[in-house]
Amino acid sequence: MELTCPKCQNEIEYGGIQKQNYHCDACAGDFKLHAACDKCGDKLELLQACGAANLWCNSCNELKSKSTAIYTLQPL
Ligand SMILES: [Zn+2]
Ligand SMILES: [Zn+2]
Repeated sequence: MELTCPKCQNEIEYGGIQKQNYHCDACAGDFKLHAACDKCGDKLELLQACGAANLWCNSCNELKSKSTAIYTLQPL
């Protein structure tokens, strides 16, 4: 999976849900990973327990799969 730089559309390699900060070499921008719910579009909370990371939607009140979340990069 690849993420797209919101500034220059450069492709940035996704480093996993636990990697929250990304840097674009093309425009030297710094970005934060934003995970959104595929159903309601709300921001998902990252829950970390015992080395495992999960995503939680406050609006749907349910645990979301990492594979169904919609990932985008947002400027810091
Ligand atoms: Zn860029
Ligand atoms: Zn939701």
